[in-house]
Amino acid sequence: MINFNAFYAQIATNRLAPWLDTLPAQLALWAKQALHGDFKQWQKALAQLPETTPSNLNIKDSVTFGCSDDLAPGQMQRIQYVFEQLKPWRKGPFSIHGIELDTEWRSDFKWQRILPHIAPLKHRYVLDVGCGSGYHLWRMLGEEAEFVVGIDPSQLFYAQFNAIKHFNPDPKINLLPIGIDDMPALQQFDTVFSMGVLYHRRSPLDFLQQLKQQLRPGGELVLETLVIEGDENTVLVPTDRYAKMRNVWFIPSCAALTLWLERLGFKNVKLVDINQTTLEEQRKTAWMDNESLIDFLDPNDHSKTIEGYPAPLRAVITANI
Ligand code: SAH
Repeated sequence: MINFNAFYAQIATNRLAPWLDTLPAQLALWAKQALHGDFKQWQKALAQLPETTPSNLNIKDSVTFGCSDDLAPGQMQRIQYVFEQLKPWRKGPFSIHGIELDTEWRSDFKWQRILPHIAPLKHRYVLDVGCGSGYHLWRMLGEEAEFVVGIDPSQLFYAQFNAIKHFNPDPKINLLPIGIDDMPALQQFDTVFSMGVLYHRRSPLDFLQQLKQQLRPGGELVLETLVIEGDENTVLVPTDRYAKMRNVWFIPSCAALTLWLERLGFKNVKLVDINQTTLEEQRKTAWMDNESLIDFLDPNDHSKTIEGYPAPLRAVITANI
């Protein structure tokens, strides 16, 4: 039985209370639809996770809950079995009672690139749009954010987040299985992150506007996305796929992206990091045995994708409203 009552009870008494006007109806519909399809199987798997008492909860330098010594005989196999049911694991890594969930992405690398450049998260209300399995949500909480909300419409990511949260059910961290289009303009978050989502949007300027509408005056946007080299009029629109992804629409240059943000009224737009994605950061692992970056690049020239476009280059931009 999925219900979000604990979340509603919390926001009823905090600054996200206006969200109660729309969210319960949307999630009730979501829960009804989730009864069909794969999610039902994942729910069944989640119900098999044993109750444990992790001896350590680290979210400051990694996401590590407990060690193998905390477990009774057989419990590790059960946890391992449940995690296997939730494959592929793309975003992480997580260490749960000694089980190392080595995910396709070293999402911790991205966090290390971003953290030095953002306003300290302590006491802040934080939203992560397109949060995946919620790896970065934990790291945001590790920076002592007051309240952390992630949204991501993927049901598998939602199930994976719940599998991890089972071992540390902290009420300050929540993932909602909705997309940005489902959100009213709350204007209540101190920091809004969106990492790895912009190029999946068919209307990137509208998307940036939607992110802006979640921020409080003075709040900070932290945007991470694919970029290409070029001036303010350079934007790549792939003719078909980009790095085998069908759903890539706009890859701007940093200058073009800065212009977009400024046109939308963002201030202090700063490019704080630029990074070529490496084969250490994105690769096949025991927990994700599909194709990965190595298969998306030209085998003879890793500076190009298999389609001949520039290989993935990612920028982090911060801005205020
Ligand atoms: N932020 C994570 C995950 C990026 S993957 C990271 O940087 O590692 C991109 C995610 O965006 C996917 O999980 C996808 O489900 C999500 N997404 C796609 N459309 C979205 C939308 N309309 N609103 C919110 N998230 C969306």
